[in-house]
Amino acid sequence: MTTHAFGAHAADQPLVAMAIQRRAPGPLDVQIDIAYCGVCHSDLHTVRSEWPGTLYPCVPGHEIVGHVSAVGDAVSGFNVGDVVGVGCLVDSCRHCASCEEGLEQYCTSGMVGTYNGRTTDAPGHTLGGYSQRIVVDQRFVLHVRHPQAQLAAVAPLLCAGITTYSPLRHWGAGPGKKVGIVGIGGLGHMGVKIAHAMGAHVVAFTTSEAKRHEIHQLGADDVVNSRDAAQMQAHVGSFDFILNTVAAPHVLDAYTALLKRDGTLCLVGAPAAPHPSPNVAELIFHRKAIAGSLIGGLPETQEMLDFCAQHGIVADIEMIAAHDIDAAYARMLNSDVKYRFVIDCATMGV
Ligand code: NAP
Ligand code: ZN
Ligand code: ZN
Repeated sequence: MTTHAFGAHAADQPLVAMAIQRRAPGPLDVQIDIAYCGVCHSDLHTVRSEWPGTLYPCVPGHEIVGHVSAVGDAVSGFNVGDVVGVGCLVDSCRHCASCEEGLEQYCTSGMVGTYNGRTTDAPGHTLGGYSQRIVVDQRFVLHVRHPQAQLAAVAPLLCAGITTYSPLRHWGAGPGKKVGIVGIGGLGHMGVKIAHAMGAHVVAFTTSEAKRHEIHQLGADDVVNSRDAAQMQAHVGSFDFILNTVAAPHVLDAYTALLKRDGTLCLVGAPAAPHPSPNVAELIFHRKAIAGSLIGGLPETQEMLDFCAQHGIVADIEMIAAHDIDAAYARMLNSDVKYRFVIDCATMGV
């Protein structure tokens, strides 16, 4: 069936309205009428071919919430009318060691992304949530248990929420742990809220002095201007864990120096160009680690959604219409977003 969408025909083209096709629901499929879709920095990296391999037309969007409008005959967990979400992946091999553990994002055959992933559906690659409808196998659909009025602000949990929750859980953020969050954009602001709710002592690192007051309100115990050497120096050797969400290349040594012995700097920001090589002696002499983490699997994404519902956590959002997406990208590149743009998908095709 034909669905209204917004996407780009080439890396140097703006996003425009387009009509795309969605498959009719198969036996295990859930058809979702999309209400809102968050705008992730990965959407921008992909649609502008900042990362290799973008296929066009490119319809980004992997922070999807909406209502079930049809289900296949064999669907067991979802009914028409349910409030649901879809995050960054819509398929995987389902039988490798990672898939069996519910870590589908690390599928050894390669998970299928919600956009720019391989599929037999037209046009041969997946098209994402900047659209009014999507059809997804039930294994990759999540239940949303927040109050309906918060639905738009739930959307960013599907990527920004899980991408910060998963490493915070994995590296044991909680009471007695000092945790840093670097870059207070879409991911970082969720990281501050979630780490705070987990009970950690949270320090936020920002290049935007103007965000200081708000970042405290998000739940940070301390806010450091990362461009101020004296403020950075005050935290040397004190962190158990630092989560770095910055989308641009920068010197990582500034953060490895802040770790305790055995501490970990986890990178989730994925800049188009590499970071300068880190100071290896800093790692060797204090058994410090630089690690990475990719979104989260389906069971953990549901756990994160339920954790956020229990703790009353949603994203701080600014709602936009579909034709404002390119302007939103420009503001995101200027770190001028508080803290996630969310598209009202009802504005597509209008
Ligand atoms: P975002 O909303 O643009 O936030 C990034 C923040 O980083 C900015 O708000 C800014 O915060 C800071 N920043 C930007 N440029 C900087 C610079 N040159 N130096 C230092 N700090 C800078 O982006 P996002 O949506 O959170 O995504 C962040 C990155 O994570 C992107 O590369 C994205 O592709 C990646 N990502 C990875 C995963 C994964 O699974 N690993 C999942 C989703 C996204 P301040 O104003 O506070 O400094
Ligand atoms: Zn994302
Ligand atoms: Zn697999």
